[in-house]
Amino acid sequence: MPEKSRVAFLGLGHMGGPMALNLVRAGYRVAGFDVVPEALQAARAQGIPVAGSALEAVDGADVVLTMFPSGGHVLDAYLGGPDGPGLLAAAAAGTIFLDCSTINVDEAREAARLAIEAGHRSVDAPVSGGVVGAEAGTLTFQAGGDVADFQAVLPLLEVMGKRVVHCGGHGAGQAAKICNNLILGVSMIAVSEAFVLGEELGLTHQALFDVASAASGQCWALTTNCPVPGPVPASPANRDYQPGFAAALMAKDLNLAVNALDSTGVAGQMGPLAARIYDRFAAEGGAGRDFSAIITDIRDSSQVHGQHDGGDPAGERAGTQLPDRRRTTTAHDDGSPE
Ligand code: NAD
Repeated sequence: MPEKSRVAFLGLGHMGGPMALNLVRAGYRVAGFDVVPEALQAARAQGIPVAGSALEAVDGADVVLTMFPSGGHVLDAYLGGPDGPGLLAAAAAGTIFLDCSTINVDEAREAARLAIEAGHRSVDAPVSGGVVGAEAGTLTFQAGGDVADFQAVLPLLEVMGKRVVHCGGHGAGQAAKICNNLILGVSMIAVSEAFVLGEELGLTHQALFDVASAASGQCWALTTNCPVPGPVPASPANRDYQPGFAAALMAKDLNLAVNALDSTGVAGQMGPLAARIYDRFAAEGGAGRDFSAIITDIRDSSQVHGQHDGGDPAGERAGTQLPDRRRTTTAHDDGSPE
């Protein structure tokens, strides 16, 4: 594949728009398309060449890059339907189908299988880094697919990102992303619970940070995206939890992890619990806040300052079976000493 290949860029939303623009600026011949006219218009206004339809964009493309909300969108677009043929049928044989959306591992493997069956090549390469990373060209790509296909799209990924990791075969990019975000979602809840507990125990945020950040509690959720303002001045907590990484996206990724736990039979417990906690937080108004704002939910849900009012602790509201010890503590909430 020549380095400056022709790219059909489908899905010009929050992420896809700036990613496509970076390819245009780097000299790639881009034909963009989005089903939403406003997105198409915005892309055109920014200087991204756009096509009249997805099939028109795919015509003559070396790479078909999709940046869609879900796996259903990807599979539907690949296969087409009553309204017309899909992308797989329209593309020339040997086209590389590069899906950068975040989707289920099983869907990514199915998309690859369909692409290969139709005579094409396939790479899944979901991203981390958010809209800021998409605009700056500093995304991290985690890719899955055959080595030769990965290497063919590597120059293009390096335009849009600063770090590209080949994680294995088809679906491995999605697998790596959801496994990482499973760690992240759970660790942010743990860090947030520790800070709220520290508050109730009379610890300053800085004291807990100084200890944990240099001890075994150290993790990205604490040292980079610290959920309380102060210790890490650049963290979203210092700007009223403007994302960053929105809670709705964390909920989405945790649910993809839960689907993978289910389909593999892995007996994970923290992932499903974290998914429920973020689902509820997003549904109750937190969707657009940074995911570290989960600390405000824990604080709001807590029985603070000895006001044991029989309220609804976060775990119970999330449908969690609480340990017996916690139930016993609640049973003493009439103010009697333990
Ligand atoms: P978005 O909703 O802003 O953009 C998706 C775009 O795809 C929309 O404009 C939609 O109209 C378009 N689309 C859907 N079906 C289409 C089709 N058949 N043909 C052409 N266009 C179609 O979403 P986004 O925030 O840009 O996210 C895209 C993907 O990236 C998602 O899978 C998301 O999980 C992932 N992601 C997002 C972020 C983030 O911070 N926004 C970070 C990492 C990963």
